[in-house]
Amino acid sequence: MKVGVLALQGAFAAHVAALESLDVRAVEVRTPESLHDLDGLVVPGGESTAVSMAAERAGLVEPIREFVSRGVPVLGTCAGAILLAAECLDGRPDQHQLGSVDVSIRRNAYGRQVDSFEVDLDVPVLRGSAPDDGAFHAVFIRAPVIERTGAGVEVLASVEGDPCAVAVGRTVLTTFHPELTADTRIHEYVLGR
Ligand code: GLN
Repeated sequence: MKVGVLALQGAFAAHVAALESLDVRAVEVRTPESLHDLDGLVVPGGESTAVSMAAERAGLVEPIREFVSRGVPVLGTCAGAILLAAECLDGRPDQHQLGSVDVSIRRNAYGRQVDSFEVDLDVPVLRGSAPDDGAFHAVFIRAPVIERTGAGVEVLASVEGDPCAVAVGRTVLTTFHPELTADTRIHEYVLGR
């Protein structure tokens, strides 16, 4: 299996390492051509405005939208979730939305005083999978909040009553950073392992 990691800006290296720890071939994606023979894609966290601008410069906005629409495994984390969402609140007016998942997501919604936080999440779809039955330790960094989920969007986990992991088929968005802990169960779930 060969999975791309969008490598324009932000936290892509840790996703490459997480995929490689699962014996997946991870490919850094910077051009539309590199999407051609991939079985899946990770759109990492970082700064969604910067990722959006860099994707536009690289001619990747439409190719990524088309790739995600194939229904192959796709994981968007934090800024990646913002990019893949249908609607971004408190974004820049020129920031691209790929509209892959029908959610409305508000940038930096936890405010400055709680810029970053960590919680143990109950993620029922991960119960019983490796490495144990326990909670998923989730790291939130200037995280967005999913304020609306459209019909057909499955909520996999919530924090403070708001969805923080959602899915439509194998397209999974998390507002936290699953690549920053050694627990690879979210990546495995996306890949259908
Ligand atoms: N605050 C960032 C944004 O709005 C997202 C933060 C992250 O990806 N960790 O794009």
